Amino acid sequence: MTKLLKAQMDFVRCTGELIAWAYANGWQLTYGEAERAPEQAKLMFTQGKGTLTSLHMQRLAVDFNLFKDGVYMPTSDAHKPLGTYWKSRHPLARWGGDFKPRPDGNHYSFEWDGHK
Ligand SMILES: [Zn+2]
Repeated sequence: MTKLLKAQMDFVRCTGELIAWAYANGWQLTYGEAERAPEQAKLMFTQGKGTLTSLHMQRLAVDFNLFKDGVYMPTSDAHKPLGTYWKSRHPLARWGGDFKPRPDGNHYSFEWDGHK
């Protein structure tokens, strides 16, 4: 097993723990983007979105849409409790709400090759 495959498997296990924890604490989630094809990353980059080294291409990032009592909670602040829990699950876990200068609160990833 490669180190990347091990990280990808740990990532999926940790997202399962995050989902269960969120529901146990009164939130609901829907999936946003998970894996991103390189062609999609290039297109988004030309539109000023994302990066050419996105961890979505490595299967090490997922975006979740957050809800409370059925109400969509789009801000990074709303994701903060989940981000804190996420970072406690694994030494590679990073939360997009910590990104500067543009926080990305619905983005949950594992750091890989220096990318978050
Ligand atoms: Zn993302």
